[in-house]
Amino acid sequence: MKIVVLKFGGTSVGTVERIRKVANIITSYIKKRYKVIVVSSAMSGVTNDLIKKSKKLSNNFNLSEYDVLVSSGEQMSCALISGRLNHIGYKSQSWMGWQIPILTEGSHSSSRIVKIYKKRIINFLENGGIPVIAGFQGINLDRRITTLGRGGSDASAIMIAQFFKAEKCIIYTDVEGVYTTDPRMIRDSKKIKVISYEEMLEMSSLGAKVMQPISIQDARLNRIDINVKSSFKNKTGTLITKRKNIFRNKIITGISFTKNDAKVSLVGVKDKPGVAASIFKPLSENSINVDMVVQNISANGKETDLTFTIKSDDIKKTEKLLKNNKKIKFRDLLINKNVSKISIIGVGMITTPGVTYRMFQALAEKLINIQVISTSEIKISVLINKKYTQKAVAILHKEFKLNN
Ligand code: ASP
Ligand code: MG
Repeated sequence: MKIVVLKFGGTSVGTVERIRKVANIITSYIKKRYKVIVVSSAMSGVTNDLIKKSKKLSNNFNLSEYDVLVSSGEQMSCALISGRLNHIGYKSQSWMGWQIPILTEGSHSSSRIVKIYKKRIINFLENGGIPVIAGFQGINLDRRITTLGRGGSDASAIMIAQFFKAEKCIIYTDVEGVYTTDPRMIRDSKKIKVISYEEMLEMSSLGAKVMQPISIQDARLNRIDINVKSSFKNKTGTLITKRKNIFRNKIITGISFTKNDAKVSLVGVKDKPGVAASIFKPLSENSINVDMVVQNISANGKETDLTFTIKSDDIKKTEKLLKNNKKIKFRDLLINKNVSKISIIGVGMITTPGVTYRMFQALAEKLINIQVISTSEIKISVLINKKYTQKAVAILHKEFKLNN
């Protein structure tokens, strides 16, 4: 069986007109002799709305009931798609997670798919049917409904492609693919034709909101090629695949930026072994994600300044933890929200020397000061004053020739 998984995001099924279009996309694959498994997200806005309602009733809404509630948007969109396919003469049926069943593990609201029972779906496919499966949901061993985290229908599509050994997994969305940087900010940004899982992970966890980051990790582990394309325009999108499938002459694949970071500086920390661990332990125990870190030794060698970044949402918690931490002594605590993190990403930098220098030099020429730096094998990030975000991205986009 030649199976294709087609996943439709919220805006792609956002109105009945769009659902008509989606039905036509689906049948175009049937005409090409594919067996199609459809995975749908809720109509755009529906999930947000349900979450808002839960918050109005309780700021500590029972998570198991939260999953029952927020998964309900997918029931509506799947029925609409199946109903439309039936109307235009195709055999189709909607399936909720529990009907298949899709078994998940982990906590409510952030579960992971561990097994999909395939028999019923395979039967239906063999009999010429088009199953339309609700994304974002499953059940756990207690037979309670679970969900996979916001944007989780991407993870559903990828795990379904994996379990059914699909030939293709296509993510239909409202953008044409993954871009070299945010097209709303840099007008000459370009659609990336092929990108590796690793690069895509960096791009999406750094703010390019095309796919749920954890779903890319699932795809990487299972070696599933993903096509991201627009459901509005019939154009080739972006292929997310293994590194070795990619031939490219550019060093840098994309540039991303975030504006929700905050810089925390501890000034005049008594320097002794274990001090960094004492600072970060309570943060990690409270699920505060520390991103970039720099430590300077002061002139007298007895004190150090430690700077790191966290998400702005965590400022209050972090401040409290640091001030209440009896294991550390410092003279001052400074917090600055006026920062943004700019990252250049590309597997090409592994084999090309001088990328760091080029990045720093390009920023220096525009008199943009770098406050903190962090690097990984395929990424260099710098923290700068927020007001220079656009300027910095534009200059780096040009420096690494991403606009041509
Ligand atoms: N409807 C869910 C959400 O809005 C899942 C998804 O869209 O992928 O998060
Ligand atoms: Mg979505």
